[in-house]
Amino acid sequence: MIKIGLKPRGIWIAGNWKMNFGPKETQDFFSDLRTAIQLHWDLKDSEFLHQGQLRACLIPPVICLQQALLEAQNLPFPLEIIAQNAHWETQGAFTGEISGPMLKEIGIPGVLIGHSERRQFFGETNASARLRVESLLKQGFHVILCIGETRIERDHGKTQEILSQQIQEILSEIKFSQGRFILAYEPIWAIGTGLTATPTQTNEAHQQIRKALEDLRQPQATNTPILYGGSVTPQNAKALLSCSEVDGLLFGGASLKAESFLAVLKSALQLKS
Ligand code: PEP
Repeated sequence: MIKIGLKPRGIWIAGNWKMNFGPKETQDFFSDLRTAIQLHWDLKDSEFLHQGQLRACLIPPVICLQQALLEAQNLPFPLEIIAQNAHWETQGAFTGEISGPMLKEIGIPGVLIGHSERRQFFGETNASARLRVESLLKQGFHVILCIGETRIERDHGKTQEILSQQIQEILSEIKFSQGRFILAYEPIWAIGTGLTATPTQTNEAHQQIRKALEDLRQPQATNTPILYGGSVTPQNAKALLSCSEVDGLLFGGASLKAESFLAVLKSALQLKS
């Protein structure tokens, strides 16, 4: 077992609510979370979060961001509230979009980019993800960039090629400083399907991703945390986090119940001894 202190890039636990919950349900979630913390959380473990060895993030819909920021202040540990997307331009005629300065004004520190649902349903491409990543990093946000292959691509032995292509097309001319850029490996066939990549598949893909970053001569290639996402549950979280190449988890379904969100967070603490 890899101990928490031996994960050189720390551990990131990030829950993506997708298009679930409005402000009232956000209040209810946090009320449930505070109850779950009272019942199941050892306050001493908050130290790992205060020291930054363990980072907890929640990624709610844009309409819940302010409520979530407010609620997060009443937790015994830091919980970063991150946006699900943002435009690369800072203002203008882009109906339905939100900009970095808008997020900054309310105190949002980070943005998720290139989620496969954005690619599948809203025309996000490597080219548009690249514009977003570049602009948002320049504006001082930290960015979690999602990449991953489809089932067909995996079955045709193309996983490595696809991951390298995504990294090349999105990141080739972007330099990121330490601690500001995070990659999430999200095999599309594992998102919301109940199928999870095995530890071997996960480690292999994460090694390929790091190699692709090194091939770009990206100075932060070694320091970039690489998270796994795809049907993470409280039951499989510990095994996934125990993979040597996994620096954290990005998960959707299991983040919608306060108890299971906390259980996934707690699974990181099981690596402490
Ligand atoms: C996600 O939304 O990024 C995700 C991985 O979803 P799920 O955990 O539900 O598969």
